[in-house]
Amino acid sequence: MITAYSGPTKRAAEPDCAAGPWPAHAWRLELKQAVTDIDELQGLLNVDLACANAAPSGCFPLRVPRPYVQRMRRGDPNDPLLRQVLPLAREADAVAGYVADPLEEAAALVAPGAIQKYAGRTLIVASGACAVHCRYCFRRHFPYDGHRQGADFPALAAIRDDPSIREVILSGGDPLLLTDAHLGRLVARISAIEHVSRLRIHTRLPVVIPQRVTAALVDILASARQRVVVVLHFNHGNEIDADCARALRNLGCFTLLNQSVLLRGVNDDADVLRTLCERLFDLGALPYYLHLPDAVAGTAHFDVPERRAIDIHRRLTAQLPGYLVPKLVRETPGAAAKAVVAT
Ligand SMILES: *Cc1c(COP(=O)(O)O)cnc(C)c1O
Ligand code: SF4
Repeated sequence: MITAYSGPTKRAAEPDCAAGPWPAHAWRLELKQAVTDIDELQGLLNVDLACANAAPSGCFPLRVPRPYVQRMRRGDPNDPLLRQVLPLAREADAVAGYVADPLEEAAALVAPGAIQKYAGRTLIVASGACAVHCRYCFRRHFPYDGHRQGADFPALAAIRDDPSIREVILSGGDPLLLTDAHLGRLVARISAIEHVSRLRIHTRLPVVIPQRVTAALVDILASARQRVVVVLHFNHGNEIDADCARALRNLGCFTLLNQSVLLRGVNDDADVLRTLCERLFDLGALPYYLHLPDAVAGTAHFDVPERRAIDIHRRLTAQLPGYLVPKLVRETPGAAAKAVVAT
């Protein structure tokens, strides 16, 4: 029997894919039990964190899930995972050029929670929350409250009305913090928009709480009519443990990409990045972007000067096949795409 071609196909979740080791609600428990107290973090890591600020301004306090803490080195205040989440006193310093919204996202809002900067793709701020508070976050000052996606998903109106939109990007906050039911409804609504042919999810949950990648989650994403791309957000090879590997295997039925931010004292080193890129490939994900940090207030201590970044990238390129080298990019407000600094 010949079956008519009915649009792009994807491999359905394979049995291996569906068999998650985690109970459906394990991730919610991890979310609830995240470490939010610096004294507790000091105790868990057996390290003196005198440089930390227990009450950073801007409502962006310490928040780090325990599965992520477990991958940090004990006794090392400079651990690259710890540095990504530890609020430092110096975040409060005013630094010239560092502002709340350097990417001018407010000007690119086309509906509540819908940001359209680039031709053919609209980004939905699907959730206002994150499982982890990354100190370098470029949306740490985003006014999430005015952009909630309730049952009517106001962001979708802008996409339905614009046939030039071919791709919907779920971002946040972290879109995988939505409940399965809410995410399922969102995916169904997007599936019903005929002119949309790609669905992309940007998430850090497979990194910080890999238990989120349950069989039910894989089924929800696989139910999309569109081809699904999952963009992971690993910054360092030490972030990948056996649970992350399993989460990525569970996601193996989708196109897997990774974006990193180049961060001083975390991954500003060609060997660190090479290890990350090779481990990602072993797990089925291709490096996509390496972002230069944005000039967001409170994040100046992560800056890597562009000349140094290009040099690190050049050394990375000299060690890897072309398909494992992420593009070094910077976001420039008003530009037609992310500005490629080096490929
Ligand atoms: C980064 C970004 C995208 C995606 O850009 P790609 O180059 O397609 O990865 C889309 N919309 C917004 C608002 C973005 O910031
Ligand atoms: S997960 Fe992403 S959006 Fe959330 S705090 Fe980290 S960088 Fe920001």
